[in-house]
Amino acid sequence: MTELDRKKEQTPVPKEWAYAPAPESRDVVSIEDRYGHFVGGQWLEPSETYTTISPATEETLAEVGQATPEEVEGAVAAAREAFENGWSGIAPAERAKYLFRIARILQERSREFAVLESLNGGKPIKESRDVDLPLAAAHFFYYAGWADKLEYAFPNRRPRPIGVAGQIIPWNFPLLMLSWKIAPALAAGNTVVLKPAETTPLSALLFADVLRQAELPPGVVNIVTGDGRAGAALVKSEGVDKIAFTGSTEVGKAIQRELAGTGKRLTLELGGKAANIIFDDAALDQAVEGIVNGIYFNQGHVCCAGSRLLVQESIYEPVVEKLKRRLTTLRVGDPLDKNTDVGAINSKQQLDKIRELVEAGEDEGAEIYQPPCRLPEKGYWFVPTVFTNVAQSYRIAQEEIFGPVLSVLTFRTPEEAVEKANNTPYGLSAGVWTEKGSRILWMAERLRAGVVWANTFNRFDPTSPFGGYKESGFGREGGRHGLEPYIDFDGSEPNGG
Ligand code: NDP
Repeated sequence: MTELDRKKEQTPVPKEWAYAPAPESRDVVSIEDRYGHFVGGQWLEPSETYTTISPATEETLAEVGQATPEEVEGAVAAAREAFENGWSGIAPAERAKYLFRIARILQERSREFAVLESLNGGKPIKESRDVDLPLAAAHFFYYAGWADKLEYAFPNRRPRPIGVAGQIIPWNFPLLMLSWKIAPALAAGNTVVLKPAETTPLSALLFADVLRQAELPPGVVNIVTGDGRAGAALVKSEGVDKIAFTGSTEVGKAIQRELAGTGKRLTLELGGKAANIIFDDAALDQAVEGIVNGIYFNQGHVCCAGSRLLVQESIYEPVVEKLKRRLTTLRVGDPLDKNTDVGAINSKQQLDKIRELVEAGEDEGAEIYQPPCRLPEKGYWFVPTVFTNVAQSYRIAQEEIFGPVLSVLTFRTPEEAVEKANNTPYGLSAGVWTEKGSRILWMAERLRAGVVWANTFNRFDPTSPFGGYKESGFGREGGRHGLEPYIDFDGSEPNGG
């Protein structure tokens, strides 16, 4: 009998904990039936539209514009005009005031944004409320602070803005990715055309109302919606000086090919297959919480998710046992319910991709564990899943699943852990769990990952740079480093490199 079983016998726990439903009210947000593109401070009637839905219920939420190349060009022209006729010349301290205002309005309207984010994206309200919104506001506060201190950020280099930034963001953290992109761009004196992801346009469209409230000059931020074709048109537009992209490695590569030789600046934040490494001296209960947070946070729709668990062989059994037990307590369901831990999968397409990779894992010989779980009948759902007996070569150990699916592997020595952790085309993040500080530093030096968390996971802070190596992309967002992609320096080629 294991120690856990013995404890279970000694302290009987109720078979089932029943939570009463605790849904957040939807009334706090009003969604229009139809949205156009936000260009030059105006709402423009779109020539084509599509419908955006709630992935938890499949209900239609609104009709949204599908930008044509001409409409994208219109937005770029508005951004150019705003750049040349005011924004780039405005006193930096004035720019800072707008950013502070945006940050404060986001805080004031955070409940409204959190509900909308969960409705349109499927993420649990406790995450949009406690993670996405506070961090989005924090990014605007942070970069507001830099706007009039760029000469201190880059001493003796005379920084100046680049021009018009085209920004393309994904669906996993719609408002947060918007903030990561827009805040440093504006702080550095650039203007912006932003394209949110096809499935999650609503928080960006509501953000246009924040810009109106903040009285940001027209054209400084323009928002065009639509699928990948709108993103491609933005990348191609000759009026854009810099592209910032977060999304899949495949599209990132296509964008890099497209921009080669054009002189446009580019930053790419792409996929990941992070190793979360647990040593035998780690505090196991905390580590299990870190594993759960690492992979089931936001349904695993996280580029830096700890999707590969590397456990030291001597503690494999207790860790897997504790993990499976913890999984049975995760509540999957209504994203607007405050007790929900795992919400809806963002789209049918993403659900199909997760199912395909999970099938591949089973076919290749891995052992699957899914806790008993009743899923809602409508909408897109996937049970939190753990695979054990995973070989390094399996697709589930190599490919980004971008869903609530964890692959467990083992190692014996720190050297082996490093080998296995680095054995992936990606290099975005990693986690190390041990009580030895020296081991953390030893590991961090050797892991080829842009971010290494120690005894924690998925921690974000606007002051800390984030970005990848290898196929996870290049360029950093956050911190002083996050300003650099939006700045030219006197003496450097205009718009170059
Ligand atoms: P994409 O890379 O297709 O989407 C990211 C953004 O780029 C979206 O706004 C998208 O528009 C846009 N886009 C799509 N095609 C082009 C193009 N040719 N040129 C310019 N922009 C384009 O990711 P997916 O949504 O298709 O997700 C696929 C996989 O990507 C996921 O399963 C996951 O593995 C990975 N991913 C990684 C993310 C990360 O944070 N690193 C984020 C999202 C996905 P649209 O939404 O209309 O497709």
